Amino acid sequence: MNREGFDVAVIGGGLHGLSAALHLARAGSRTVVIERHWTGRHASGATAAGVRTLNRDIAEIPISLEAMEMWHRMASIVGDDCGFKAHGQMRVAEREEHMPALLQREARVRALGYTHEEMIDAAELRRLVPALSPHCLGALISRQDGAADPHRTIAAFRRACEREGVTIAEGCGVTSAERRDGDWHLSCGSRRFTASAVVNAAGAWAARVAALFGDEIELGLRASMMIATERVAPLLKPVVSVVGRALSFKQSDQGTLVIGGGLQGSAQLDRARSSVHFSVLAKGAKAASDLFPVVRGARIARCWTGIEAQTRDHLPVIGVSPNAAGLFHTFGYSGHGFQLVPVVGAIVADLVTEGRTSRAIGAFAPERLMQGRAAA
Ligand SMILES: Cc1cc2nc3c(=O)[nH]c(=O)nc-3n(C[C@H](O)[C@H](O)[C@H](O)COP(=O)(O)OP(=O)(O)OC[C@H]3O[C@@H](n4cnc5c(N)ncnc54)[C@H](O)[C@@H]3O)c2cc1C
Repeated sequence: MNREGFDVAVIGGGLHGLSAALHLARAGSRTVVIERHWTGRHASGATAAGVRTLNRDIAEIPISLEAMEMWHRMASIVGDDCGFKAHGQMRVAEREEHMPALLQREARVRALGYTHEEMIDAAELRRLVPALSPHCLGALISRQDGAADPHRTIAAFRRACEREGVTIAEGCGVTSAERRDGDWHLSCGSRRFTASAVVNAAGAWAARVAALFGDEIELGLRASMMIATERVAPLLKPVVSVVGRALSFKQSDQGTLVIGGGLQGSAQLDRARSSVHFSVLAKGAKAASDLFPVVRGARIARCWTGIEAQTRDHLPVIGVSPNAAGLFHTFGYSGHGFQLVPVVGAIVADLVTEGRTSRAIGAFAPERLMQGRAAA
């Protein structure tokens, strides 16, 4: 049997796996990405591709701000801007009782020394988004945020990986891992890979992959649903979400309205499939037409779901395995991992090649989800 030898094997060819591989290759590691289906098949291909620092968990703000700086110079990182447009993201208050939460959030973030989140009043809201229903009262906005094109992003990261000499092995699901003579030996059907370090970027299946190496990590699952309408005349530029409802609303460059916000369908991990719940999805369509009455007649062109891992604190898992030598985890992005892609790849490369990173990742340690089962 042919063994293919590398310094690092990345399990999972979503955006986090590709970004880790890209940075690892640039740091001089011979790297393979091993993907069960094809690159971008799961969450990274289903994503709404919102690029948001707004309303992040406080622990995520430092890496999210660094990621945002990278998004603004993405062409210098992967050779394409990935369709990123910085038209801002805003969180709208529909009623008086929604305003205090936004004002408190702005004050909390400012007290910590961050300036990226800013309250705007109804007049500024209407100036920025004239199509918004006049009942909306104000919003918290991050003006440097925006959205990208998910498929352009996957293609750009993949091409950049290939230019750096990364091997991409598709149609290869890793089913076993064994440590011998200081290397990991991975089996994927008829193929065998050997590497001294392994990055677990297996998305919704990451707990199963971790278990192959002896790490028992508690991980939930989500299957977020999305709607895209037919093309309509230009309506808005920022991405709009709203307090108290599951809604994220934007317009693509092609004119389609893209409606999400975390409404959940159902997922079957074994079959790698997820399904839309139309009655739940209708709530998203209703929220969109309440906020933007002009879209009431727009026809829905398609809807879809994507499967992703969710942690109990909604923070990702980024760090070194406490049990398995040479294993590194990057998963559990809980519905907001697209924006973090460029910076986490750099963090993983630091961890693998230097054994440490200067970024603050303590809150993302795998041990917090291992319930005392770590480090035997
Ligand atoms: C509908 C939807 C909307 C979203 N909207 C946003 C948004 O607006 N903004 C934002 O920041 N984030 C958003 N997200 C979240 C974001 O898309 C994800 O956090 C991100 O794409 C996760 O990337 P990943 O590489 O970790 O996972 P994935 O893209 O799922 O990649 C994991 C890969 O691992 C592979 N794999 C699994 N097991 C194995 C194995 N044993 N061997 C080999 N390969 C394996 C899988 O086939 C898969 O391709 C959204 C997600 C969804 C689903």
